[in-house]
Amino acid sequence: MRIGFDLDGVLCDYDDAVFHMINRLPREELRVVQIHYFSTRKPLLNPELFLHDRDEYHVITGRNQGLRELTLRWCARHLPRAASVQVVGGTPRYEFTEEELTGLDPEFSLKGKRDKILELGIDVYFEDEPRNVRRLREMLPGVAIIQYGGILESEHPLTLGA
Ligand SMILES: [Mg+2]
Repeated sequence: MRIGFDLDGVLCDYDDAVFHMINRLPREELRVVQIHYFSTRKPLLNPELFLHDRDEYHVITGRNQGLRELTLRWCARHLPRAASVQVVGGTPRYEFTEEELTGLDPEFSLKGKRDKILELGIDVYFEDEPRNVRRLREMLPGVAIIQYGGILESEHPLTLGA
C-alpha cells in the first residue's frame, strides 16, 4: 500500500495561530520568520508505525516553494525512509504584491496535494486540516482520506462563533 502523510500537524508539530500571525508580518520579516518557524518543528508521529512489510510512505505537504529546501532537509533528518517528499505549495506570499495576493487561488496547494496523491497512486492519505479533509474526500472519492489531528470543523471556535 502507498500511504501519504501531510507534514504540518500530522508528522510534525504545528500551531495554526502562530502561522497566521507570522503571515501578517511585513514581507521583509516574513521570509526569515517563516524559515525559522519551519526549521524548528519537532516530529509528532512516526509514520513507520503505519507500515506493513511492502508498504511505502510519501510526504505530501502544501508548504510553499520558499520552504522547499529546508523541508527536504528536515525530512531527510527526521523521516529518512520516506519514499519521497513532495512540496506542492506555490510561490511564497512575500513575493507577491498585496493586489496580487487577492487574486491567488486559495486552493492552489490543496489542488497540488490532489494531483500528487493521484500521480503517486496513494491509497490512504493522512491530513489534519478538517477543511482539507472534506475537500480532498470530494475531489478523490477513490482514496481513503483520514483525518488525523486537527479539530473537527463543527467544533472549531470560528464555526461556533467564539
Ligand atoms: Mg497540515
